Amino acid sequence: MDFISQLLQRGIAAARAGQTAEARRLLTRVTELDENNVPAWLWLSGVVQTMRDRRLCLENVLTLDPTNAAAQAGLKWLNAQAAEVGEHCPGCGAVLPRSGKTCPACGLLLVIACPACGEYTDVSAQTCPVCNEPLGDFRTGAAYYLALAQAYLDHSRIFVAAEITPFVEAAAGDNADYLAAVAALYEALRNSTRAAAIYEQLIAKHPMDATAYLRLGALYQHEGLLDEARTIYQQALEKAAEHPDVLFALAQVYLAQDGASQMASRYLQRVAKLAPEHAPAHLALARLYHAQGKTPLATAHGERAVALTQPETQLGQAARQEIKRIQPTQSYSLQQGWGEVTRRIIGFFLPLGLSAWTNAQLSALKISFPAWWALLFGAVGAYLWTSAAELPQNPGMVALCGKEGLTQQGSKWAVGLVGAGLWLAAFAFILAKG
Ligand SMILES: [Zn+2]
Ligand SMILES: [Zn+2]
Repeated sequence: MDFISQLLQRGIAAARAGQTAEARRLLTRVTELDENNVPAWLWLSGVVQTMRDRRLCLENVLTLDPTNAAAQAGLKWLNAQAAEVGEHCPGCGAVLPRSGKTCPACGLLLVIACPACGEYTDVSAQTCPVCNEPLGDFRTGAAYYLALAQAYLDHSRIFVAAEITPFVEAAAGDNADYLAAVAALYEALRNSTRAAAIYEQLIAKHPMDATAYLRLGALYQHEGLLDEARTIYQQALEKAAEHPDVLFALAQVYLAQDGASQMASRYLQRVAKLAPEHAPAHLALARLYHAQGKTPLATAHGERAVALTQPETQLGQAARQEIKRIQPTQSYSLQQGWGEVTRRIIGFFLPLGLSAWTNAQLSALKISFPAWWALLFGAVGAYLWTSAAELPQNPGMVALCGKEGLTQQGSKWAVGLVGAGLWLAAFAFILAKG
């Protein structure tokens, strides 16, 4: 006896013994291996779970063997049953017609595809009868359809996902979370028109919530509709609170349009002000200023983006690359290093040193002890002035005030004034002694 015949015998034995689940499994397997197997279809019709399936099995028998008496009798009985009671919708209990995918009374989808194996099964089945994949409970409505639609997408069953998405939408009703999920489904299915319509609907219902504006704007940007995207973001700024992400998105739109970098930098600066930790905004500002040749500003924002990101993230890498682009030969810390500080101090110190040297008849040995002190104070003054005015992040200030160096405008003024005072006093002292 061949393998298929063995399976058939085991299936028939199981059906006779009342083991319907086992019989169903074996006989279904036989029909999969040999779809023209009349005895398998006939026996299967006795162990399937629904009238619909039973009718299908018997019709298959009659297609293969039109004179099969058992099948004719079975169908006759089924028709009599249907005429008498009919099959009922598991959702609303209405009597169902013999064909059709949805209940005409409540709109319930009556057969659904299994996301894993693709087999169609009754909506009331909670697991797939073929592969045992959990299918969920249709009575949970939107949650049920949404989970199925997402599972179809995960299994690349685009056609069934597209087929079920309107059912998710119908079940979602007014629920904003479900509607946002439905819009995301339409986006995944490349149905931008439906997705945009749902976002518009969400915006109309929740005008203070920035999320739907952001999603709709991103959709328009993705489609290359920059003017539409800009309008949506500006609408969000008018109606919802000034959200950093909306400002950032708006800046991106301006950046994508030539000659609008002025507007872009305005919005980016507002992002950096509202959300000082917004690393993408700092990176965008660094790029913008670099393109405009404003190296110190570009460097400052680039450094900020670097400080706010991890080197292994995509953003972190982009920020580090940008810093290298802005400062191709020397690093920022080198530029504000001791060498640069010394160069500037010498510039300030020169008039003092020359005066003291002239007073001492051009001999360093004859410079008086108080004049040496004055020179020292002058040098300290020059350092403080330089730190406040030009190099707030030099190594000395970083050691004194932390990583950011001299940041606050107030302390910059104080340090600068003390430095200038010291320098002037030292200069006055040396000149007076001459
Ligand atoms: Zn119904
Ligand atoms: Zn399945």
